[in-house]
Amino acid sequence: MSVSGISNKYKQNVINLRREFHKYPEASLHEYKTISKIGEELDKLLIPYKRIADTGIIAEIKGNTPGKTVALRADIDALPVKELTECEYKSENDGFMHACGHDCHISMLLGTAMILSEMKNELNGTVKLIFQPAEEITLGAKKMIKAGALDGVDGVFGIHVWSDIEHGFVCIQEGPLMASSDFFTINVHGKGGHGSAPHQGVDAVISSSAIVMNLQSIVSRELSPLEPAVVSVGSLNVGSSFNVIASEGTICGTTRCFNPDVRNKFPEMIKRIAIDTASAYRSTAEVEYNFSTPIVINDANCSKIAQKSLDKIGAKSITIEKITAGEDFAEYLNRAPGIIALVGVRNEAKGACYPQHHPMYTVDEDALEIGTALYAQYALDFLNS
Ligand SMILES: [Zn+2]
Ligand SMILES: [Zn+2]
Repeated sequence: MSVSGISNKYKQNVINLRREFHKYPEASLHEYKTISKIGEELDKLLIPYKRIADTGIIAEIKGNTPGKTVALRADIDALPVKELTECEYKSENDGFMHACGHDCHISMLLGTAMILSEMKNELNGTVKLIFQPAEEITLGAKKMIKAGALDGVDGVFGIHVWSDIEHGFVCIQEGPLMASSDFFTINVHGKGGHGSAPHQGVDAVISSSAIVMNLQSIVSRELSPLEPAVVSVGSLNVGSSFNVIASEGTICGTTRCFNPDVRNKFPEMIKRIAIDTASAYRSTAEVEYNFSTPIVINDANCSKIAQKSLDKIGAKSITIEKITAGEDFAEYLNRAPGIIALVGVRNEAKGACYPQHHPMYTVDEDALEIGTALYAQYALDFLNS
């Protein structure tokens, strides 16, 4: 029987599992009930697994012939979002919601475990299933890798369900797909005083505001106009009273880009602008810059394998614009050739038209069959490549 045939057989199981995981979303690094449920399902399939990195699981399906090892990854955490849908399997953990579709990833990968358990004869190598915690706070992939999730792995494959892509379509394009996501904090120091006598103090409001404005010139004046990049200041805290000259300010922001060279330039540009602007206003500044999530760059060869897999399962591929959101799957891609596929779950007729992280987020569950089959078919094709 083909992957699609078996996938169809387990279609309802995958949907039921998704609904159950949806009902009990858990915060990043607190996915305890989630992994115990995943463990139960793997037990039913007699698939051996290990709990690693506190709330992660790696399982292993060995084929009947030895060969390469491919890792399939699903992230499992939810978001601190209060669900506003009225579905019958609505979140029962108030204030938390699977608003990024990770409930789909878990259930699809379990569906794949069901399929591959039946296809061991055709499996030329080993499939590792990675159930990864804490993607939303970009710590999970690093933790799993540190705990050995990629040891002995020749390739990685991930799926994200994607609300901007219509059901039936899958994006498997090669090259940079999702941006790096890094962050910075700037502390500004002035000198306090009475609001009526600004000349006696050093106003941190003025220097902090000037730094925020000058940071805008990085994208508009320093980087090539052909190079997409983002510098966003998300918070500016300075001053506490209308008649006091503020002595301290704090600015926090994030950077995004698709080119590793640009990514490496950000700290120098931000530090120079912050420190020199502060100095122009008689104040001082120091910058803490944190590299957090690398760029998701899909491997060209793996993209070709995924295209063949899509053809076999009868799904259509689609090319999309790059995405400025980050995804810590990039950590795996930095260490092994691989690809993340974005599976379309948009279907306006079913209310699945809200963006990722929205309190009304939902998916066209019929698309889960595609994702389930794709995980399995890619594993078979990668091992045979
Ligand atoms: Zn998310
Ligand atoms: Zn996500």
